[in-house]
Amino acid sequence: MHDVLVIGAGTAGLTAAIYARRASKSVLVLEARGFGGQILNTPAIWNYPAEPGISGFDFAMKLYSQAETLGAEFAFGTASGFRAEDGGFTVPTADAEYRGRSLIIATGTSHRGLGLPGEEALTGRGVSFCATCDGALYKGRDVAVVGGGNTAVSDALYLSDLAATVWLIHRRDSFRADPADVALLGRKENIRLLLGTRVTGLVAEDKLSAVVLTGPEGRTSELPVAGLFIAVGMVPATGAFEGLLELDPSGYIVAGEDCRTSVPGVFAAGDGRTKDVRQLVTAAADGAVAATAAVRYVNSL
Ligand code: NAP
Repeated sequence: MHDVLVIGAGTAGLTAAIYARRASKSVLVLEARGFGGQILNTPAIWNYPAEPGISGFDFAMKLYSQAETLGAEFAFGTASGFRAEDGGFTVPTADAEYRGRSLIIATGTSHRGLGLPGEEALTGRGVSFCATCDGALYKGRDVAVVGGGNTAVSDALYLSDLAATVWLIHRRDSFRADPADVALLGRKENIRLLLGTRVTGLVAEDKLSAVVLTGPEGRTSELPVAGLFIAVGMVPATGAFEGLLELDPSGYIVAGEDCRTSVPGVFAAGDGRTKDVRQLVTAAADGAVAATAAVRYVNSL
């Protein structure tokens, strides 16, 4: 049994591993896909202290290697929940069970879809949720980005260096992204804004060939594009924990700045908990707070 079992190897989970290892606790980090989490999708990070412009990939790799060098152990698997038993917590996956005296849930969020017919089938065939992963496939072609937050704006800026034209489609008249980034849109000649506009359909045979738009007056039109990058926000990846601890109506784990959940010994860190500011720096801060609390909890057993 490890002292601290961390679910999720994003910024919050890896930072928690660093803090718990530096407190000499044994740590296992369980990850479903790949190390780094959501930040892997960010082309360049401009708001993390002392690392201006670092790529999300480099940031994630540095963080992973720091945790690994300190002696954190890693396993792959998707947690399907947890059970409190024998003075600790058991986390089952499809292939194995992992045990921890304390548990830190840092599963973050996953991409929200538009809910359009064909969206799932076309993902990987013109529809993408990751500009840095798939942008190079659209070199010299026309693409669209949908959304009005930081992700949509930074995706549009990134894609403008690859694609012929980037249509940025947003349902409102103004963006909620950081004004400094919104200002950069105007400097890119090949970014075209379609405001007050929704994507209401996908046109495809084998691959995406166009999107259906519904404009401010309700008129519909087709916009030919080879790629559609969906950046309309995130939903908490906490479904496995429903009924096991308190979630808010949107599915976020109810936990304050101390990262304590409704179950003693279980802590929540990062974007998957209730909080006001979901940023890289607050995910890292949560990792530190949750690990410190978990170490105290283990010491008290
Ligand atoms: P977000 O801030 O929640 O923005 C989602 C955008 O999508 C909003 O503009 C929203 O429109 C729109 N939207 C939501 N549902 C929609 C739908 N069904 N159809 C059309 N549009 C829809 O999401 P995000 O940009 O992915 O960012 C998530 C979090 O990560 C934020 O806290 C963000 O600040 C953070 N983030 C930070 C960085 C960074 O620090 N560098 C980079 C990326 C993301 P409305 O405006 O009308 O609601």
